[in-house]
Amino acid sequence: MLLNLTDVLTSEGKQEEKKVLFEADHFQYGGESFAITKRTPVTVTVSALEKGKALLKGNAQFSVCMYCDRCLKETIHDFDVTFDRMVYAPDYPIDAESLEEGYDLVGFQIDIEALVSDEISVNWPMKVLCKPDCKGICSICGKNLNDGACGCDSFIPDPRMAKIKDIFNEGKEV
Ligand SMILES: [Zn+2]
Ligand SMILES: [Zn+2]
Repeated sequence: MLLNLTDVLTSEGKQEEKKVLFEADHFQYGGESFAITKRTPVTVTVSALEKGKALLKGNAQFSVCMYCDRCLKETIHDFDVTFDRMVYAPDYPIDAESLEEGYDLVGFQIDIEALVSDEISVNWPMKVLCKPDCKGICSICGKNLNDGACGCDSFIPDPRMAKIKDIFNEGKEV
């Protein structure tokens, strides 16, 4: 969704507030597609600071359907997206530093959808859990252990534990 900033960038002291609809129904992350289950419009405020230079602020909330890393259950993750950056008219005499910080207009237009997607990617959770103490699934039978134990023998012999047991037994023999 391209937002046209011509009015704000060609006049001084002008402020505009717009609601932009985020049209895509999925976010792409790590080569996968995640459904957006809830969204608000993106509220964008553009305030002219001087001719050709404006501050762009935006805010929106999204709920995205992900899968628990341990048990694979559907899990809703909420994003509160905010952005805050300078935008410059194409003919504004801009230095290299500012250019890096926020110059991403195409002519007088800015792609709000791309901006929001960038923010979502940056804030994507490292770990997705359905609840903090998710027990995961049994590696033997595949049962979701949050629904109760499955009765599989999940004992994994640990060489370090075996060693301690040996020492304990030796002690007993003396
Ligand atoms: Zn889980
Ligand atoms: Zn099991």
